[in-house]
Amino acid sequence: MSDIIELLPDHVANQIAAGEVVQRPASVVKELLENAIDAGASQIKLLVKDAGRTLVQVIDDGKGMSTTDARLSFERHATSKIKSADDLFALCTKGFRGEALASIAAVAHVELKTKTENEEVGTRIEIEGSTIKEQEVCATIKGTSIAVKNLFYNIPARRNFLKSDNVELRHVIDEFQRVALAHEGIGFVMYHNDNELFNLQRANKRQRIVSIFGTKTNEKLVPVVEETEIVEIDGFIIKPEFSKKTKGEQFFFVNDRFIKHPYLNHSVNAAFDGLLPDRSRASYFIYLKVDPKTIDINIHPTKTEVKFEDEHAIYNLLRAAVKHSLGQFNIAPILDFNRESNMDTPYSYKDKAVEVPRVEVDRNFNPFETVTSNGRSSHVANYEKKSSAGWETMYEGLDRRTTESSFSSLQIEDEPEGESLFVEHESKGFTENKQTDRDAANTYQIHNKYVVSAIKSGMLVIDQNRAHQRVLYEEFLRNITVKESVSQQLLFPLRLDYSSSELALFSSLKESLENTGFVLDFPEDGILEVSGIPASIQESEVSIVLEQLLSDVEQEVPNAGFSQTDVLAKSMAKSMAVKTGEKLDDLSREHLVNKLFACTEPTLSPFYKKTFITLTVDELDRKFNA
Ligand code: ADP
Ligand code: MG
Repeated sequence: MSDIIELLPDHVANQIAAGEVVQRPASVVKELLENAIDAGASQIKLLVKDAGRTLVQVIDDGKGMSTTDARLSFERHATSKIKSADDLFALCTKGFRGEALASIAAVAHVELKTKTENEEVGTRIEIEGSTIKEQEVCATIKGTSIAVKNLFYNIPARRNFLKSDNVELRHVIDEFQRVALAHEGIGFVMYHNDNELFNLQRANKRQRIVSIFGTKTNEKLVPVVEETEIVEIDGFIIKPEFSKKTKGEQFFFVNDRFIKHPYLNHSVNAAFDGLLPDRSRASYFIYLKVDPKTIDINIHPTKTEVKFEDEHAIYNLLRAAVKHSLGQFNIAPILDFNRESNMDTPYSYKDKAVEVPRVEVDRNFNPFETVTSNGRSSHVANYEKKSSAGWETMYEGLDRRTTESSFSSLQIEDEPEGESLFVEHESKGFTENKQTDRDAANTYQIHNKYVVSAIKSGMLVIDQNRAHQRVLYEEFLRNITVKESVSQQLLFPLRLDYSSSELALFSSLKESLENTGFVLDFPEDGILEVSGIPASIQESEVSIVLEQLLSDVEQEVPNAGFSQTDVLAKSMAKSMAVKTGEKLDDLSREHLVNKLFACTEPTLSPFYKKTFITLTVDELDRKFNA
């Protein structure tokens, strides 16, 4: 047979990539704004027409591009930001894939004008569907202007997929606000159809927030500041009495990048404890700084997800910092006063009136004293050496989300099945001989991160978070398809507020969710009622799981042919898996190891990361004799 494989022509490859990078006008806005920031701009102007369908243009006063660079910038994988894979672990720029301009140019009419400081004249390039139409010198000022016109002009299906102007504009504004909030030191202006929507002067964080959300916001902001070795926290929470039932003002930034993080969101809400009016959500603008080495920015260009090396510690630190601020700024008494006239006291809150004074008592409690005394300034970089011992003990008792409970189901559930599966796999030789006489009692946990176990040929080092993700993922997949999960009935059903589009999403997932153990109902507009939850989670974790699910499904690339079942199982596995930093008792470790090797694909997490490595006795011997 003759050869049939051919390399795709560039313009086709670009168009395929564009399907991932450019979902809607807002994606163009994000990419162009981020490029302007990476170019060191101090003033950025965004012009949008017809919610971005007709025009998205970004003009910056950054460093500009030489003629050659201008031309190269539209090539795929052309980037000035990283040179090797190592640079990925020390990212200080927004971009690094070198994909955005190539993708945008594949699906729109693009005009670029750019000039560097040292050059007399600039370069103008017109490009359409990856083809350069014109290139000439031009008179322009230092900086870059990129105009993206007629988005998806050559992909009618994508164009038709766009929502109404209102919806698309909302997305555009969201992106604009996220970028502007993360870069208060840069001036931003935004126009839509020649109306000025925002004019943001260079400012500090508080001023930036106020200039975006209005002057009334100022009095609602309570600062949160904490510096530790593992993370620097800075930003504001909104006083509890101004919290809203709908989502909208929850902003996390990590190293100046907007992220969504249901688990950390839960931590802030947990800090508010009984202070929030019934069913409303904490609002916040929280800026985290961590060593870039300790985060994994999602490989996917359009996703806003970040994985921290030690999520559990950050969860606790953040919660303590927010609690501290609430106490420090006398939030509790103010709230008490308001509450009397409000009849919105939740049932559970009435019974717990004693909890309010608890916050007051804590007002001056600084959970970081021990840390700060031994070196506030030497943060992040030293974390590895200093971290684990201190943190665990410091938050004991503060943390209700204890390991035992989150793991309880794992301990009780279908033990015999686990065992038999395990044996079966063994006989198939699935896990080779790694398992054969693994001494079950001998598992250890190191750094609250890895579970180590002796095996015949040497030792096994398991990443607890990834391994548990794998275990849960397969469990959920099985439950969703086989429909036999265990549900725990809630004494008082949870009533959660969601927007109508979010409810529509839950309703489309209802059957699958119920197969995992949820019992859902939609009693009235804007409310999701949860009366049963999977046996493996606690009531307090329900919101994390559902929020994570919304964000995962929302961020799923349209048309990418994803299976909802798979997204659901992955998402739940991700939010429910035991975190790095959590301590596991003997039994939990034991079960984790057994269940992992009972999986069909024990070697990889559902996100294709290694779940364990082995070190053979030979390898160890070699190390000792080297
Ligand atoms: P990435 O941002 O991932 O590097 P892009 O496709 O977004 O990839 O941009 C490609 C390259 O074009 C960038 O690395 C940068 O060198 C250059 N570039 C893009 N936009 C600008 C700009 N506004 N000012 C200066 N250079 C830019
Ligand atoms: Mg870029």
